Amino acid sequence: MKNREHRIATSVLVIGAGGSGLRAAIELAERGVDALVVSKRAKSDAHTALAAGGINAALATMDRGDSWQQHAADTLKEGYLLSDPRTVRIVTEGAARGIADLERYGMPFAREDDGRISQRYFGAHTFRRTAFAGDYTGLEIQRTLVNRAAQLQVAILDNVYVTRLLVRDNVVFGAYGFDLEDGSRYIIHADAVILAAGGHTRIWRRTSSRRDENTGDAFRLAVEAGGRLRDAELVQFHPSGLLEPEDAAGTLVSEAARGEGGILRNALGERFMSRYDPERMELSTRDRVALACYTEIKEGRGTPDGGVWLDVSHLPRATIMRRLPRVYQTLLELQMLDITTTPIEIAPTAHYSMGGVWVRPEDHGTGVEGLYAIGEAASGLHGANRLGGNSLIELLVYGRIVGEAAAAYSAGRDSQQRSATALAKARDEVDQVLAAKGQENVRPLQRALRNVMTEHAGVVRDEAGLDSGLGKLAEIEAGLAEVGVHPDIASFQDLAHAFDLKASVVAARATLEAARARRETRGCHNRSDYPALDPSLGVNLVWSGPGQLAREPIPPVPEDIATLMHEVSAAGKLVE
Ligand SMILES: Cc1cc2nc3c(=O)[nH]c(=O)nc-3n(C[C@H](O)[C@H](O)[C@H](O)COP(=O)(O)OP(=O)(O)OC[C@H]3O[C@@H](n4cnc5c(N)ncnc54)[C@H](O)[C@@H]3O)c2cc1C
Repeated sequence: MKNREHRIATSVLVIGAGGSGLRAAIELAERGVDALVVSKRAKSDAHTALAAGGINAALATMDRGDSWQQHAADTLKEGYLLSDPRTVRIVTEGAARGIADLERYGMPFAREDDGRISQRYFGAHTFRRTAFAGDYTGLEIQRTLVNRAAQLQVAILDNVYVTRLLVRDNVVFGAYGFDLEDGSRYIIHADAVILAAGGHTRIWRRTSSRRDENTGDAFRLAVEAGGRLRDAELVQFHPSGLLEPEDAAGTLVSEAARGEGGILRNALGERFMSRYDPERMELSTRDRVALACYTEIKEGRGTPDGGVWLDVSHLPRATIMRRLPRVYQTLLELQMLDITTTPIEIAPTAHYSMGGVWVRPEDHGTGVEGLYAIGEAASGLHGANRLGGNSLIELLVYGRIVGEAAAAYSAGRDSQQRSATALAKARDEVDQVLAAKGQENVRPLQRALRNVMTEHAGVVRDEAGLDSGLGKLAEIEAGLAEVGVHPDIASFQDLAHAFDLKASVVAARATLEAARARRETRGCHNRSDYPALDPSLGVNLVWSGPGQLAREPIPPVPEDIATLMHEVSAAGKLVE
Protein backbone atom coordinates (compact mmCIF):
# COMPACT_ATOMS: atom_id res chain seq x y z
CA MET A 1 0.00 0.00 0.00
CA LYS A 2 2.90 2.29 0.81
CA ASN A 3 3.36 3.97 -2.53
CA ARG A 4 -0.23 3.95 -3.58
CA GLU A 5 -1.64 7.36 -4.50
CA HIS A 6 -5.40 7.70 -4.10
CA ARG A 7 -7.04 10.21 -6.41
CA ILE A 8 -10.26 11.76 -5.20
CA ALA A 9 -12.34 14.59 -6.60
CA THR A 10 -14.93 16.53 -4.67
CA SER A 11 -16.62 19.91 -4.96
CA VAL A 12 -15.41 21.27 -1.62
CA LEU A 13 -12.59 19.89 0.51
CA VAL A 14 -12.70 20.71 4.22
CA ILE A 15 -9.41 20.30 6.09
CA GLY A 16 -10.22 19.74 9.77
CA ALA A 17 -13.03 17.91 11.56
CA GLY A 18 -13.36 20.20 14.58
CA GLY A 19 -16.45 22.31 15.18
CA SER A 20 -15.76 24.75 12.35
CA GLY A 21 -14.94 22.16 9.68
CA LEU A 22 -17.92 19.99 10.54
CA ARG A 23 -20.32 22.94 10.59
CA ALA A 24 -19.12 24.01 7.14
CA ALA A 25 -19.46 20.45 5.79
CA ILE A 26 -23.01 20.22 7.17
CA GLU A 27 -23.93 23.45 5.39
CA LEU A 28 -22.55 22.08 2.15
CA ALA A 29 -24.38 18.77 2.55
CA GLU A 30 -27.67 20.50 3.41
CA ARG A 31 -27.28 22.46 0.17
CA GLY A 32 -26.70 19.25 -1.75
CA VAL A 33 -23.05 20.04 -2.45
CA ASP A 34 -20.51 17.24 -2.52
CA ALA A 35 -17.96 17.70 0.31
CA LEU A 36 -15.11 15.72 1.80
CA VAL A 37 -13.68 16.33 5.29
CA VAL A 38 -10.16 15.18 6.16
CA SER A 39 -8.53 15.30 9.56
CA LYS A 40 -5.27 14.13 10.99
CA ARG A 41 -6.89 12.78 14.14
CA ALA A 42 -10.15 10.99 14.88
CA LYS A 43 -13.25 13.08 14.11
CA SER A 44 -14.69 12.50 17.59
CA ASP A 45 -11.48 13.76 19.13
CA ALA A 46 -10.80 17.14 17.53
CA HIS A 47 -9.60 19.88 19.86
CA THR A 48 -13.16 21.31 19.99
CA ALA A 49 -14.07 18.39 22.28
CA LEU A 50 -11.93 19.96 25.03
CA ALA A 51 -13.97 23.16 25.31
CA ALA A 52 -15.67 23.27 28.64
CA GLY A 53 -17.42 26.44 29.67
CA GLY A 54 -19.84 27.51 26.98
CA ILE A 55 -20.89 29.28 23.80
CA ASN A 56 -22.12 32.88 23.49
CA ALA A 57 -25.22 34.37 21.94
CA ALA A 58 -27.31 37.31 23.11
CA LEU A 59 -30.47 35.20 23.39
CA ALA A 60 -31.66 37.26 26.37
CA THR A 61 -33.17 34.16 27.94
CA MET A 62 -31.94 35.27 31.38
CA ASP A 63 -31.30 39.02 31.02
CA ARG A 64 -33.86 40.73 28.83
CA GLY A 65 -31.71 43.79 28.25
CA ASP A 66 -29.15 41.85 26.24
CA SER A 67 -28.71 42.44 22.50
CA TRP A 68 -26.29 41.48 19.76
CA GLN A 69 -25.12 45.10 19.77
CA GLN A 70 -24.07 44.79 23.43
CA HIS A 71 -22.35 41.48 22.69
CA ALA A 72 -20.50 43.24 19.84
CA ALA A 73 -19.50 46.12 22.12
CA ASP A 74 -18.20 43.73 24.82
CA THR A 75 -16.21 41.78 22.20
CA LEU A 76 -14.62 44.90 20.74
CA LYS A 77 -13.78 46.30 24.17
CA GLU A 78 -12.19 43.05 25.35
CA GLY A 79 -10.21 42.83 22.07
CA TYR A 80 -8.51 46.20 22.75
CA LEU A 81 -9.84 47.50 19.41
CA LEU A 82 -7.85 45.10 17.24
CA SER A 83 -10.93 43.09 16.18
CA ASP A 84 -12.50 43.86 12.83
CA PRO A 85 -15.88 45.45 13.68
CA ARG A 86 -17.42 43.87 10.56
CA THR A 87 -16.41 40.38 11.70
CA VAL A 88 -17.65 41.12 15.20
CA ARG A 89 -21.01 42.23 13.85
CA ILE A 90 -21.40 39.13 11.68
CA VAL A 91 -20.67 36.79 14.60
CA THR A 92 -22.72 38.55 17.27
CA GLU A 93 -25.70 39.21 15.00
CA GLY A 94 -25.59 35.66 13.63
CA ALA A 95 -25.03 34.00 17.01
CA ALA A 96 -28.70 33.25 17.79
CA ARG A 97 -28.96 31.44 14.47
CA GLY A 98 -25.82 29.48 15.31
CA ILE A 99 -27.44 28.27 18.53
CA ALA A 100 -30.71 27.51 16.69
CA ASP A 101 -28.77 25.38 14.21
CA LEU A 102 -27.24 23.41 17.07
CA GLU A 103 -30.68 22.95 18.64
CA ARG A 104 -31.97 21.71 15.30
CA TYR A 105 -29.19 19.13 15.23
CA GLY A 106 -30.11 17.92 18.72
CA MET A 107 -27.63 19.70 21.01
CA PRO A 108 -28.52 19.02 24.69
CA PHE A 109 -28.21 22.56 26.06
CA ALA A 110 -28.79 23.10 29.79
CA ARG A 111 -32.27 24.56 30.27
CA GLU A 112 -34.32 26.35 32.89
CA ASP A 113 -37.44 24.65 34.31
CA ASP A 114 -39.65 26.39 31.74
CA GLY A 115 -37.54 25.14 28.84
CA ARG A 116 -35.55 28.31 28.09
CA ILE A 117 -31.87 27.74 27.30
CA SER A 118 -29.91 28.57 30.46
CA GLN A 119 -27.24 31.22 30.12
CA ARG A 120 -24.52 32.12 32.57
CA TYR A 121 -21.96 34.83 33.10
CA PHE A 122 -18.57 34.57 31.50
CA GLY A 123 -15.81 37.10 32.22
CA ALA A 124 -16.23 40.65 30.84
CA HIS A 125 -19.74 40.07 29.44
CA THR A 126 -22.31 42.70 30.40
CA PHE A 127 -25.09 40.09 30.61
CA ARG A 128 -25.53 36.35 31.09
CA ARG A 129 -25.20 35.14 27.50
CA THR A 130 -23.17 31.92 27.64
CA ALA A 131 -25.15 28.77 26.83
CA PHE A 132 -23.68 25.49 28.00
CA ALA A 133 -24.05 21.75 28.49
CA GLY A 134 -22.59 20.95 31.92
CA ASP A 135 -18.86 21.53 31.72
CA TYR A 136 -18.68 19.45 28.54
CA THR A 137 -20.03 22.01 26.07
CA GLY A 138 -17.36 21.42 23.44
CA LEU A 139 -17.67 17.65 23.65
CA GLU A 140 -21.45 17.89 23.20
CA ILE A 141 -21.06 20.27 20.26
CA GLN A 142 -18.56 17.95 18.62
CA ARG A 143 -20.84 14.93 19.17
CA THR A 144 -23.86 16.81 17.86
CA LEU A 145 -22.03 17.91 14.71
CA VAL A 146 -20.52 14.46 14.10
CA ASN A 147 -24.02 12.94 14.37
CA ARG A 148 -25.57 15.50 12.04
CA ALA A 149 -22.76 14.99 9.52
CA ALA A 150 -23.37 11.22 9.70
CA GLN A 151 -27.12 11.72 9.09
CA LEU A 152 -26.24 13.72 5.97
CA GLN A 153 -23.69 11.09 4.94
CA VAL A 154 -20.85 13.58 4.84
CA ALA A 155 -17.68 11.77 3.81
CA ILE A 156 -14.98 12.07 6.50
CA LEU A 157 -11.47 10.69 6.13
CA ASP A 158 -9.85 10.37 9.55
CA ASN A 159 -6.11 9.98 9.92
CA VAL A 160 -5.20 11.75 6.70
CA TYR A 161 -2.53 14.42 7.04
CA VAL A 162 -2.59 17.31 4.56
CA THR A 163 0.92 18.45 3.69
CA ARG A 164 0.26 21.04 1.00
CA LEU A 165 -2.50 22.91 -0.77
CA LEU A 166 -2.50 22.63 -4.55
CA VAL A 167 -2.56 26.05 -6.17
CA ARG A 168 -2.18 27.35 -9.70
CA ASP A 169 -1.93 31.09 -10.42
CA ASN A 170 -3.39 32.00 -7.03
CA VAL A 171 -6.37 29.65 -7.48
CA VAL A 172 -6.63 26.60 -5.24
CA PHE A 173 -7.48 23.25 -6.87
CA GLY A 174 -7.08 20.76 -4.04
CA ALA A 175 -4.64 19.36 -1.53
CA TYR A 176 -2.00 16.67 -1.11
CA GLY A 177 -1.49 14.43 1.91
CA PHE A 178 -0.83 10.97 3.29
CA ASP A 179 -2.51 8.32 5.37
CA LEU A 180 -1.10 8.23 8.88
CA GLU A 181 -1.49 4.47 9.15
CA ASP A 182 -0.21 3.04 5.89
CA GLY A 183 1.59 6.02 4.35
CA SER A 184 -0.41 5.88 1.12
CA ARG A 185 -0.81 9.28 -0.52
CA TYR A 186 -3.88 11.32 -1.31
CA ILE A 187 -4.36 13.71 -4.21
CA ILE A 188 -7.64 15.45 -3.58
CA HIS A 189 -8.96 17.69 -6.34
CA ALA A 190 -11.57 20.23 -5.32
CA ASP A 191 -13.17 23.41 -6.61
CA ALA A 192 -12.80 25.05 -3.22
CA VAL A 193 -10.89 24.28 -0.02
CA ILE A 194 -11.87 25.27 3.51
CA LEU A 195 -9.00 25.37 5.97
CA ALA A 196 -10.30 24.51 9.45
CA ALA A 197 -7.10 23.07 10.93
CA GLY A 198 -6.84 24.96 14.24
CA GLY A 199 -4.30 27.35 15.76
CA HIS A 200 -0.66 27.35 16.90
CA THR A 201 -0.66 27.16 20.71
CA ARG A 202 1.21 23.85 20.72
CA ILE A 203 4.43 25.66 19.83
CA TRP A 204 4.79 26.72 23.49
CA ARG A 205 6.12 24.32 26.11
CA ARG A 206 2.99 24.49 28.17
CA THR A 207 -0.28 24.50 26.29
CA SER A 208 -3.87 23.54 26.90
CA SER A 209 -3.76 21.64 23.58
CA ARG A 210 -2.81 18.02 23.47
CA ARG A 211 0.20 16.49 21.75
CA ASP A 212 0.25 16.86 17.96
CA GLU A 213 -2.63 19.32 17.65
CA ASN A 214 -2.56 23.10 17.12
CA THR A 215 0.93 22.79 15.66
CA GLY A 216 0.32 25.68 13.25
CA ASP A 217 -0.55 23.52 10.21
CA ALA A 218 -3.20 25.94 9.00
CA PHE A 219 -0.71 28.81 9.17
CA ARG A 220 1.89 27.02 7.06
CA LEU A 221 -0.59 25.61 4.56
CA ALA A 222 -2.10 29.06 4.00
CA VAL A 223 1.19 30.93 3.70
CA GLU A 224 2.70 28.40 1.29
CA ALA A 225 -0.44 28.68 -0.82
CA GLY A 226 -0.02 32.46 -1.05
CA GLY A 227 -2.16 33.49 1.93
CA ARG A 228 -1.15 35.73 4.84
CA LEU A 229 -1.29 35.67 8.63
CA ARG A 230 -2.79 38.38 10.81
CA ASP A 231 -1.51 39.17 14.32
CA ALA A 232 0.18 35.82 14.97
CA GLU A 233 1.73 37.40 18.09
CA LEU A 234 -1.65 37.65 19.81
CA VAL A 235 -1.93 34.50 21.91
CA GLN A 236 -4.01 34.14 25.05
CA PHE A 237 -2.26 32.60 28.06
CA HIS A 238 -4.38 30.90 30.70
CA PRO A 239 -3.02 31.34 34.24
CA SER A 240 -3.24 27.75 35.42
CA GLY A 241 -1.65 24.94 33.44
CA LEU A 242 -0.08 21.85 34.98
CA LEU A 243 3.70 21.41 34.90
CA GLU A 244 3.74 17.62 34.98
CA PRO A 245 3.75 15.10 33.38
CA GLU A 246 5.75 16.56 30.51
CA ASP A 247 3.54 15.18 27.74
CA ALA A 248 0.48 16.76 29.40
CA ALA A 249 2.23 19.97 30.46
CA GLY A 250 -0.18 22.89 30.26
CA THR A 251 -3.35 20.86 30.79
CA LEU A 252 -5.81 23.31 32.29
CA VAL A 253 -6.76 23.52 35.90
CA SER A 254 -10.17 25.12 35.57
CA GLU A 255 -10.52 28.73 36.66
CA ALA A 256 -13.34 27.42 38.80
CA ALA A 257 -10.60 26.35 41.26
CA ARG A 258 -9.92 30.04 41.93
CA GLY A 259 -13.60 30.85 41.67
CA GLU A 260 -14.37 28.44 44.49
CA GLY A 261 -11.78 30.03 46.80
CA GLY A 262 -8.45 28.59 45.64
CA ILE A 263 -5.43 30.56 46.84
CA LEU A 264 -2.24 31.33 44.89
CA ARG A 265 1.10 31.26 46.69
CA ASN A 266 4.69 31.57 45.57
CA ALA A 267 7.57 29.39 46.76
CA LEU A 268 8.05 31.76 49.76
CA GLY A 269 4.48 31.05 50.83
CA GLU A 270 3.32 34.60 49.99
CA ARG A 271 -0.21 35.12 48.70
CA PHE A 272 1.20 37.17 45.88
CA MET A 273 -2.00 38.43 44.23
CA SER A 274 -2.06 41.14 46.92
CA ARG A 275 0.79 42.77 44.95
CA TYR A 276 -1.09 42.75 41.64
CA ASP A 277 -4.78 43.16 42.43
CA PRO A 278 -5.35 43.58 46.18
CA GLU A 279 -9.10 44.00 45.73
CA ARG A 280 -9.98 41.02 43.61
CA MET A 281 -6.98 38.88 44.54
CA GLU A 282 -7.36 35.42 42.90
CA LEU A 283 -10.62 36.53 41.27
CA SER A 284 -8.81 39.05 39.10
CA THR A 285 -9.00 38.77 35.29
CA ARG A 286 -7.26 35.97 33.42
CA ASP A 287 -4.61 38.17 31.81
CA ARG A 288 -3.72 39.79 35.16
CA VAL A 289 -3.47 36.49 37.03
CA ALA A 290 -1.39 35.00 34.21
CA LEU A 291 0.92 38.03 34.30
CA ALA A 292 1.17 37.83 38.12
CA CYS A 293 2.10 34.11 38.08
CA TYR A 294 4.59 34.75 35.29
CA THR A 295 6.21 37.65 37.15
CA GLU A 296 6.59 35.66 40.38
CA ILE A 297 8.26 32.82 38.51
CA LYS A 298 10.47 35.11 36.43
CA GLU A 299 11.62 37.12 39.47
CA GLY A 300 12.76 33.99 41.27
CA ARG A 301 9.89 33.44 43.68
CA GLY A 302 8.60 30.39 41.83
CA THR A 303 9.04 26.73 42.69
CA PRO A 304 12.27 24.96 41.62
CA ASP A 305 10.36 23.55 38.62
CA GLY A 306 9.18 27.00 37.55
CA GLY A 307 5.65 27.19 38.91
CA VAL A 308 3.54 28.64 41.69
CA TRP A 309 1.08 26.91 44.02
CA LEU A 310 -2.67 26.84 43.60
CA ASP A 311 -4.18 25.58 46.82
CA VAL A 312 -7.76 24.41 47.41
CA SER A 313 -6.91 22.07 50.29
CA HIS A 314 -8.43 24.49 52.87
CA LEU A 315 -11.86 24.01 51.23
CA PRO A 316 -14.20 21.35 52.64
CA ARG A 317 -13.67 18.04 50.86
CA ALA A 318 -17.39 17.92 50.00
CA THR A 319 -17.15 21.30 48.26
CA ILE A 320 -14.23 20.10 46.15
CA MET A 321 -16.05 16.91 45.21
CA ARG A 322 -19.23 18.77 44.31
CA ARG A 323 -17.82 21.88 42.64
CA LEU A 324 -14.45 20.78 41.24
CA PRO A 325 -14.87 17.12 40.32
CA ARG A 326 -13.02 17.42 37.02
CA VAL A 327 -10.02 19.13 38.61
CA TYR A 328 -9.94 16.45 41.32
CA GLN A 329 -10.11 13.68 38.73
CA THR A 330 -7.54 15.22 36.38
CA LEU A 331 -4.93 15.62 39.13
CA LEU A 332 -5.49 12.10 40.39
CA GLU A 333 -5.16 10.69 36.89
CA LEU A 334 -2.17 12.73 35.73
CA GLN A 335 -0.17 13.16 38.95
CA MET A 336 -1.71 10.84 41.56
CA LEU A 337 -2.21 14.03 43.55
CA ASP A 338 -5.08 14.55 45.99
CA ILE A 339 -6.08 18.22 45.77
CA THR A 340 -8.13 17.94 48.98
CA THR A 341 -4.81 17.70 50.87
CA THR A 342 -2.06 18.98 48.56
CA PRO A 343 -1.53 22.20 46.54
CA ILE A 344 -1.24 22.05 42.75
CA GLU A 345 1.87 23.31 40.97
CA ILE A 346 0.84 25.50 38.03
CA ALA A 347 2.21 28.01 35.52
CA PRO A 348 0.69 30.04 32.66
CA THR A 349 -0.17 27.96 29.60
CA ALA A 350 -0.70 28.95 25.94
CA HIS A 351 -4.42 28.60 25.37
CA TYR A 352 -5.83 30.30 22.29
CA SER A 353 -4.57 31.77 18.99
CA MET A 354 -6.35 35.09 18.53
CA GLY A 355 -4.32 35.74 15.39
CA GLY A 356 -4.44 33.44 12.40
CA VAL A 357 -4.93 33.24 8.67
CA TRP A 358 -5.95 36.59 7.16
CA VAL A 359 -9.53 36.41 5.91
CA ARG A 360 -12.15 38.78 4.53
CA PRO A 361 -14.92 39.52 7.04
CA GLU A 362 -17.79 38.80 4.67
CA ASP A 363 -16.96 35.24 3.60
CA HIS A 364 -13.59 34.34 5.16
CA GLY A 365 -11.96 34.13 1.75
CA THR A 366 -8.16 34.26 2.12
CA GLY A 367 -7.26 36.19 -1.01
CA VAL A 368 -6.20 32.91 -2.68
CA GLU A 369 -9.16 32.21 -4.92
CA GLY A 370 -11.33 29.33 -3.70
CA LEU A 371 -9.46 29.07 -0.38
CA TYR A 372 -11.30 29.89 2.86
CA ALA A 373 -10.23 29.66 6.51
CA ILE A 374 -12.38 29.31 9.63
CA GLY A 375 -12.30 28.67 13.35
CA GLU A 376 -9.15 29.05 15.41
CA ALA A 377 -7.16 28.89 12.16
CA ALA A 378 -8.67 32.22 11.07
CA SER A 379 -8.53 35.72 12.56
CA GLY A 380 -10.44 38.96 12.88
CA LEU A 381 -12.89 38.39 15.73
CA HIS A 382 -10.90 38.40 18.96
CA GLY A 383 -8.35 41.19 18.59
CA ALA A 384 -5.85 41.28 21.47
CA ASN A 385 -7.99 39.33 23.94
CA ARG A 386 -10.68 36.72 23.39
CA LEU A 387 -13.93 37.11 25.23
CA GLY A 388 -14.59 33.69 26.83
CA GLY A 389 -17.17 31.65 24.91
CA ASN A 390 -16.73 33.56 21.64
CA SER A 391 -14.65 30.96 19.84
CA LEU A 392 -17.29 28.25 19.84
CA ILE A 393 -19.93 30.58 18.43
CA GLU A 394 -17.47 31.75 15.77
CA LEU A 395 -17.21 28.13 14.56
CA LEU A 396 -20.97 27.91 14.16
CA VAL A 397 -21.52 31.28 12.51
CA TYR A 398 -18.65 31.21 10.06
CA GLY A 399 -19.02 27.47 9.44
CA ARG A 400 -22.40 28.24 7.93
CA ILE A 401 -21.29 31.37 6.05
CA VAL A 402 -18.18 29.76 4.58
CA GLY A 403 -20.09 26.61 3.63
CA GLU A 404 -22.54 28.82 1.74
CA ALA A 405 -19.75 30.87 0.11
CA ALA A 406 -17.79 27.78 -0.97
CA ALA A 407 -20.94 26.21 -2.39
CA ALA A 408 -21.64 29.32 -4.47
CA TYR A 409 -18.03 29.55 -5.60
CA SER A 410 -18.03 25.90 -6.67
CA ALA A 411 -21.34 26.28 -8.53
CA GLY A 412 -19.99 29.33 -10.37
CA ARG A 413 -16.88 27.65 -11.77
CA ASP A 414 -16.91 27.09 -15.54
CA SER A 415 -13.65 25.21 -15.55
CA GLN A 416 -10.65 24.56 -13.39
CA GLN A 417 -7.01 24.65 -14.28
CA ARG A 418 -4.80 22.20 -12.46
CA SER A 419 -1.03 22.16 -12.36
CA ALA A 420 1.12 19.09 -12.76
CA THR A 421 4.04 21.18 -11.47
CA ALA A 422 2.25 22.06 -8.23
CA LEU A 423 1.29 18.42 -7.74
CA ALA A 424 4.84 17.22 -8.41
CA LYS A 425 6.14 19.74 -5.89
CA ALA A 426 3.76 18.44 -3.22
CA ARG A 427 4.69 14.82 -3.96
CA ASP A 428 8.43 15.58 -3.99
CA GLU A 429 8.17 17.35 -0.68
CA VAL A 430 6.86 14.22 1.06
CA ASP A 431 9.34 12.01 -0.82
CA GLN A 432 12.23 14.22 0.27
CA VAL A 433 11.23 14.25 3.92
CA LEU A 434 10.94 10.45 3.81
CA ALA A 435 14.23 9.99 2.01
CA ALA A 436 16.22 12.29 4.32
CA LYS A 437 18.80 10.35 6.27
CA GLY A 438 19.76 13.18 8.60
CA GLN A 439 20.91 12.73 12.17
CA GLU A 440 18.38 15.04 13.82
CA ASN A 441 15.26 13.59 15.43
CA VAL A 442 12.05 15.53 15.24
CA ARG A 443 10.97 15.37 18.87
CA PRO A 444 14.07 17.11 20.32
CA LEU A 445 13.73 19.86 17.72
CA GLN A 446 10.05 20.30 18.60
CA ARG A 447 11.07 20.55 22.26
CA ALA A 448 13.78 23.09 21.42
CA LEU A 449 11.24 25.18 19.52
CA ARG A 450 8.79 25.10 22.41
CA ASN A 451 11.54 26.19 24.76
CA VAL A 452 12.42 29.11 22.50
CA MET A 453 8.82 30.28 22.34
CA THR A 454 8.32 29.87 26.08
CA GLU A 455 11.50 31.71 26.97
CA HIS A 456 11.31 34.47 24.38
CA ALA A 457 7.66 34.91 23.40
CA GLY A 458 5.74 33.95 26.54
CA VAL A 459 3.50 36.09 28.70
CA VAL A 460 6.02 38.99 28.74
CA ARG A 461 8.29 39.83 25.82
CA ASP A 462 11.03 42.33 25.02
CA GLU A 463 13.12 43.28 22.00
CA ALA A 464 16.35 41.61 23.13
CA GLY A 465 14.53 38.38 24.00
CA LEU A 466 12.64 38.31 20.72
CA ASP A 467 15.86 38.92 18.77
CA SER A 468 17.56 36.14 20.63
CA GLY A 469 14.52 33.90 20.00
CA LEU A 470 14.79 34.59 16.28
CA GLY A 471 18.48 33.64 16.39
CA LYS A 472 17.69 30.32 18.06
CA LEU A 473 14.82 29.72 15.65
CA ALA A 474 17.26 30.05 12.74
CA GLU A 475 19.30 27.20 14.26
CA ILE A 476 16.16 25.04 14.52
CA GLU A 477 15.28 25.88 10.91
CA ALA A 478 18.77 24.69 9.93
CA GLY A 479 18.27 21.54 12.01
CA LEU A 480 15.03 20.85 10.16
CA ALA A 481 17.06 20.24 7.01
CA GLU A 482 18.95 17.51 8.88
CA VAL A 483 15.93 15.63 10.14
CA GLY A 484 15.75 11.89 9.58
CA VAL A 485 12.28 10.34 9.46
CA HIS A 486 11.66 6.76 10.52
CA PRO A 487 8.17 5.52 9.76
CA ASP A 488 7.60 2.03 11.06
CA ILE A 489 5.22 -0.75 10.31
CA ALA A 490 2.74 0.58 12.86
CA SER A 491 2.32 4.06 11.47
CA PHE A 492 3.64 7.10 9.69
CA GLN A 493 3.50 9.28 12.80
CA ASP A 494 7.15 10.22 12.47
CA LEU A 495 6.45 11.70 9.05
CA ALA A 496 3.53 13.62 10.56
CA HIS A 497 5.78 14.95 13.31
CA ALA A 498 8.23 16.22 10.69
CA PHE A 499 5.43 18.12 8.94
CA ASP A 500 4.12 19.35 12.30
CA LEU A 501 7.58 20.77 12.92
CA LYS A 502 7.72 22.42 9.49
CA ALA A 503 4.42 24.12 10.31
CA SER A 504 5.45 25.08 13.83
CA VAL A 505 8.60 26.74 12.55
CA VAL A 506 6.58 28.93 10.16
CA ALA A 507 4.11 29.81 12.93
CA ALA A 508 6.97 30.59 15.32
CA ARG A 509 8.70 32.91 12.87
CA ALA A 510 5.50 34.80 12.14
CA THR A 511 4.83 35.10 15.88
CA LEU A 512 8.31 36.29 16.82
CA GLU A 513 8.55 38.79 13.97
CA ALA A 514 5.12 40.26 14.66
CA ALA A 515 5.74 40.33 18.43
CA ARG A 516 8.94 42.29 17.79
CA ALA A 517 7.11 44.75 15.56
CA ARG A 518 4.29 45.31 18.05
CA ARG A 519 6.25 47.68 20.27
CA GLU A 520 3.51 48.26 22.81
CA THR A 521 1.56 46.47 25.54
CA ARG A 522 -1.99 45.64 24.54
CA GLY A 523 -4.29 42.91 25.83
CA CYS A 524 -2.45 39.60 25.91
CA HIS A 525 0.71 41.11 24.41
CA ASN A 526 2.98 42.43 27.19
CA ARG A 527 6.21 44.17 26.20
CA SER A 528 8.31 45.00 29.26
CA ASP A 529 10.29 47.51 27.15
CA TYR A 530 7.09 49.17 25.86
CA PRO A 531 4.71 48.97 28.82
CA ALA A 532 2.03 51.32 27.42
CA LEU A 533 -0.54 50.94 24.67
CA ASP A 534 0.52 52.85 21.54
CA PRO A 535 -2.52 54.29 19.69
CA SER A 536 -0.56 54.30 16.41
CA LEU A 537 -0.40 50.49 16.69
CA GLY A 538 -4.17 50.13 16.62
CA VAL A 539 -3.57 48.14 13.40
CA ASN A 540 -3.31 44.52 12.38
CA LEU A 541 0.14 43.17 11.61
CA VAL A 542 -0.07 41.06 8.47
CA TRP A 543 2.74 38.59 7.76
CA SER A 544 3.32 37.07 4.34
CA GLY A 545 6.68 35.38 4.85
CA PRO A 546 10.01 35.88 6.63
CA GLY A 547 10.70 39.59 7.05
CA GLN A 548 7.47 40.59 5.31
CA LEU A 549 5.18 42.37 7.71
CA ALA A 550 2.64 45.04 6.78
CA ARG A 551 0.43 47.24 8.92
CA GLU A 552 -3.23 47.07 8.01
CA PRO A 553 -5.70 49.68 9.26
CA ILE A 554 -8.85 48.52 11.05
CA PRO A 555 -12.21 50.11 10.18
CA PRO A 556 -13.71 52.33 12.91
CA VAL A 557 -16.27 50.98 15.37
CA PRO A 558 -19.78 52.09 14.29
CA GLU A 559 -21.21 54.87 16.46
CA ASP A 560 -24.16 52.87 17.81
CA ILE A 561 -21.82 50.10 19.04
CA ALA A 562 -19.17 52.50 20.35
CA THR A 563 -21.71 54.09 22.73
CA LEU A 564 -22.29 50.67 24.32
CA MET A 565 -18.61 50.03 25.05
CA HIS A 566 -17.91 50.35 28.76
CA GLU A 567 -15.75 48.80 31.42
CA VAL A 568 -17.24 45.44 32.44
CA SER A 569 -16.25 43.91 35.74
CA ALA A 570 -15.06 40.34 35.34
CA ALA A 571 -15.08 39.71 39.08
CA GLY A 572 -16.67 36.40 39.91
CA LYS A 573 -17.09 35.52 36.23
CA LEU A 574 -14.19 33.21 35.61
CA VAL A 575 -13.95 31.47 32.25
CA GLU A 576 -11.96 28.90 30.32
C1 LIG B 1 -9.37 23.31 27.51
C2 LIG B 1 -10.07 24.23 26.56
C3 LIG B 1 -11.28 24.81 26.90
C4 LIG B 1 -11.94 25.67 26.02
N1 LIG B 1 -13.15 26.18 26.39
C5 LIG B 1 -13.82 27.00 25.53
C6 LIG B 1 -15.11 27.50 25.88
O1 LIG B 1 -15.66 27.20 26.94
N2 LIG B 1 -15.74 28.31 24.99
C7 LIG B 1 -15.19 28.66 23.80
O2 LIG B 1 -15.81 29.41 23.05
N3 LIG B 1 -13.97 28.17 23.43
C8 LIG B 1 -13.27 27.35 24.25
N4 LIG B 1 -12.05 26.85 23.89
C9 LIG B 1 -11.53 27.15 22.53
C10 LIG B 1 -12.22 26.29 21.46
O3 LIG B 1 -12.42 24.99 21.95
C11 LIG B 1 -11.39 26.18 20.16
O4 LIG B 1 -10.97 27.44 19.76
C12 LIG B 1 -12.20 25.58 19.02
O5 LIG B 1 -12.80 24.38 19.43
C13 LIG B 1 -11.37 25.34 17.77
O6 LIG B 1 -12.16 24.67 16.80
P1 LIG B 1 -11.68 24.52 15.29
O7 LIG B 1 -12.77 23.88 14.52
O8 LIG B 1 -11.17 25.80 14.79
O9 LIG B 1 -10.41 23.57 15.34
P2 LIG B 1 -10.10 22.19 16.09
O10 LIG B 1 -11.21 21.70 16.93
O11 LIG B 1 -8.76 22.41 16.70
O12 LIG B 1 -9.95 21.17 14.88
C14 LIG B 1 -8.86 21.20 14.01
C15 LIG B 1 -9.00 20.04 13.05
O13 LIG B 1 -8.00 20.15 12.05
C16 LIG B 1 -7.38 18.88 11.87
N5 LIG B 1 -6.03 19.14 11.32
C17 LIG B 1 -5.08 19.95 11.81
N6 LIG B 1 -3.99 19.93 11.01
C18 LIG B 1 -4.26 19.08 9.99
C19 LIG B 1 -3.54 18.61 8.86
N7 LIG B 1 -2.28 19.02 8.59
N8 LIG B 1 -4.13 17.72 8.04
C20 LIG B 1 -5.40 17.26 8.30
N9 LIG B 1 -6.12 17.68 9.36
C21 LIG B 1 -5.56 18.58 10.19
C22 LIG B 1 -7.41 18.25 13.25
O14 LIG B 1 -7.26 16.85 13.17
C23 LIG B 1 -8.81 18.67 13.71
O15 LIG B 1 -9.76 17.79 13.17
C24 LIG B 1 -11.36 25.99 24.76
C25 LIG B 1 -10.14 25.41 24.41
C26 LIG B 1 -9.48 24.54 25.30
C27 LIG B 1 -8.18 23.94 24.90
